[in-house]
Amino acid sequence: MNDPDNWLTAALCGGDPDKWFLEGVRPQSAKQLAVRAAKTACRRCPVKLRCASEILRIESGQPAEMRAGVFAAMTPEERAAVDPVVQARKRVAA
Ligand code: SF4
Repeated sequence: MNDPDNWLTAALCGGDPDKWFLEGVRPQSAKQLAVRAAKTACRRCPVKLRCASEILRIESGQPAEMRAGVFAAMTPEERAAVDPVVQARKRVAA
């Protein structure tokens, strides 16, 4: 945690947030359980704010269907919903 470039070493996903790319999990009930488990871990993660900041920066402007995985306790749809660039585009297009 002291090294700002090494923040993932403290992550509860073991430094591998990609492990919660759950789009391929079937059936839907199993996917829902997996997403819930990922979100529970993220909520307890000591670096969740940094994770949220990084993933929202990386995905900025991407629609939900271009995103994948659970990061910082948010699904792709939830991240798109809080992305100001995505929301601004929707307002302009409306
Ligand atoms: S908030 Fe979740 S995805 Fe992000 S680093 Fe922590 S455990 Fe991993």
